[in-house]
Amino acid sequence: MRQLKFITAILAFSFLSVNAHASLRPDDNKKTKPDDTKKPKVKKDDTTTFVSNIEAMNCEETPDTTIMLFPSHDLYASWDTSSAHPYNFYEQFKTDSVTINLLTEGDGGFSMPFKGPVTSNFGWRRYRPHYGTDIDLETGDQVVSSFDGMIRLAKYCNGYGNCVIIRHNNGLETVYGHLSKILVEPGQKIASGAIIGLGGNTGRSYGAHLHFEMRYLGQALDTEDFIDYEKGELKATTFNLRKIDVESKYDLRALHSRHKHDIGLAKKGTYKNTKHAKASRKNYKVRKGDSLAKIAKRNRTTVKALCKKNGLKPSSKLKAGQKIRI
Ligand SMILES: [Zn+2]
Repeated sequence: MRQLKFITAILAFSFLSVNAHASLRPDDNKKTKPDDTKKPKVKKDDTTTFVSNIEAMNCEETPDTTIMLFPSHDLYASWDTSSAHPYNFYEQFKTDSVTINLLTEGDGGFSMPFKGPVTSNFGWRRYRPHYGTDIDLETGDQVVSSFDGMIRLAKYCNGYGNCVIIRHNNGLETVYGHLSKILVEPGQKIASGAIIGLGGNTGRSYGAHLHFEMRYLGQALDTEDFIDYEKGELKATTFNLRKIDVESKYDLRALHSRHKHDIGLAKKGTYKNTKHAKASRKNYKVRKGDSLAKIAKRNRTTVKALCKKNGLKPSSKLKAGQKIRI
């Protein structure tokens, strides 16, 4: 009898999962594109891993159906192992604000995905949004999970290259892009600090680095609002996410088109003087072993442009600690 009940639960669960996803599909990816532009080709829910795992279990000993619950199942309507961003934030974020408890009780805390210098921030980059923070690394360096969670996606995605997405108990999903090797599978439970892959240069990437994102209901947030990259730790244990902040600082596509619209109306607003342009200008601190070519590649610019901005010659020698305008 218990066994029958359990199997019914599995069936009900499979049905709910597929159904929930179907209801999201029409709005898929409208507002939450990553720094890539194309949608992944395969977009079907893949619950086979879980169903087969469940079937393999001994029902007599484990009648507890909570084992089927994915992290933050109460927040997310679907569990999609194929599509990087199947959610629609504005449809699902029903309140004006929410407090995210970053450190869920019983979880293993926070780990830096990779300890390295930040080479590119969250923001608009030339022609597209950059929804993550880039961390410098060498191909083959070990990348770890930021929190406890479950691997939702582990595959090659346009733009991201080899990519891992993890769902966490605190409601967030973290994204790790450009990996040279993926070492995990969807459905796998992962502890904070456990290795998920090796850093690399796959996808839309110019030089080996980790592209790291934090998302809430699909909406990318600026990881630097949460993480102190210098110290390698969280800035606070809770984060208050307000809809107004999403509209004014995180929804890069909407901000960009609003910004272009404003310029069109004002006819005199130059891009140079806008808050947006200021945010995208940045200084780069020269590190030991850097060359202009290396810095240009890492920051998606050219040696010529760097020379012009900084009054340098291509042959100029750089000193560690020197600041270069990007
Ligand atoms: Zn990036």
